[in-house]
Amino acid sequence: MSRYWSDVVRSLTPYVPGEQPRIANLVKLNTNENPYPPSPKVLEAIRLETGSALRLYPDPDSERLKEAIARYHGLGKNNVFVGNGSDEVLAHVFCALFRHEKPLLFPDITYSFYPVYAQLYGIDFETVPLDDRFQIRIEDYGRPNGGIIFPNPNAPTGCLLDLRNIEMLLSKNTDSVVAIDEAYIDFGGKSAIELIGKYDNLLVIQTLSKSRSLAGLRVGFAIGHPGLVEALERVKNSFNSYPLDRLAICGAVAAFEDQEYFETTRKMVIESREKLKEGLEKLGFYVLPSSANFLFVRHPAREASSIAAMLREEGIIVRHFRLPRIEEFLRISVGTDEECNALVSSLGKLL
Ligand SMILES: *Cc1c(COP(=O)(O)O)cnc(C)c1O
Repeated sequence: MSRYWSDVVRSLTPYVPGEQPRIANLVKLNTNENPYPPSPKVLEAIRLETGSALRLYPDPDSERLKEAIARYHGLGKNNVFVGNGSDEVLAHVFCALFRHEKPLLFPDITYSFYPVYAQLYGIDFETVPLDDRFQIRIEDYGRPNGGIIFPNPNAPTGCLLDLRNIEMLLSKNTDSVVAIDEAYIDFGGKSAIELIGKYDNLLVIQTLSKSRSLAGLRVGFAIGHPGLVEALERVKNSFNSYPLDRLAICGAVAAFEDQEYFETTRKMVIESREKLKEGLEKLGFYVLPSSANFLFVRHPAREASSIAAMLREEGIIVRHFRLPRIEEFLRISVGTDEECNALVSSLGKLL
């Protein structure tokens, strides 16, 4: 078939997401999904929308959802962009705001989708090494660039950069967009959304996939100055008029209206994370401090890939990245206490 391929397609190295095996009773700790179901109010809202309304196209602008997100964050609707998962939002950010002469900057260890988007859109990039404790050093970003992006907390390390550092970066980097991918912010950090009014080059991207248990619904959003949002709208309206379907819009609105459920489940994940960290440290693992819903861990004596393979035999899957500097690490999503206990007891036997 490949003789029909365009040169662009030939040159691509697509992103490979963590596997979604169809095996029953798996302890699935490999893709940072929330172990708890979505809010019952979300499921009810989706049920109510499931009917003859599906005959009609959804609102191309997802107005209700933009209003709900704007209200939640105390901002205007024109500060909000929504997309089919934050991955799609990120793709539009790369196309709309990062295609410049100067290179895009992001950490050497980070979300592995960034280089994929850069390649797709022909964006030149430079990676900036994390320090030897796997922390982002903002001093290292003080060079000419066409944009800066990193997750906060970073993935797959879980390490958080505080707002003071982010503000320092913003005050120095005023000629290009700084995009902060806050997929995991609800599990332990303070959002940079509060700085939006002060910096017109700051864009914050969030998702409902992790802290709101809706990875299957595909809803993400970006918050920033209306000028940045307009750039994203221009790309979106040149690509897909209806990125969010009717069920996604209704479900996502309901998720923002059920604050209590969000707080409860978020706290449960944070508590389980701390218990899991303790359990793994007792087994001799080195565990990076995490502000996310996963832990990044290394065992001093056993190879990460062989631990992952052994766990798999036990029906537990975790994520291993065959990448420089982190080959000896495993990324383990925080499950329910029961799942975490199953992991720790399997590891206790295997090691
Ligand atoms: C999970 C994740 C995303 C993607 O989230 P979706 O909204 O499900 O597309 C984006 N960025 C980072 C760093 C993530 O870990």
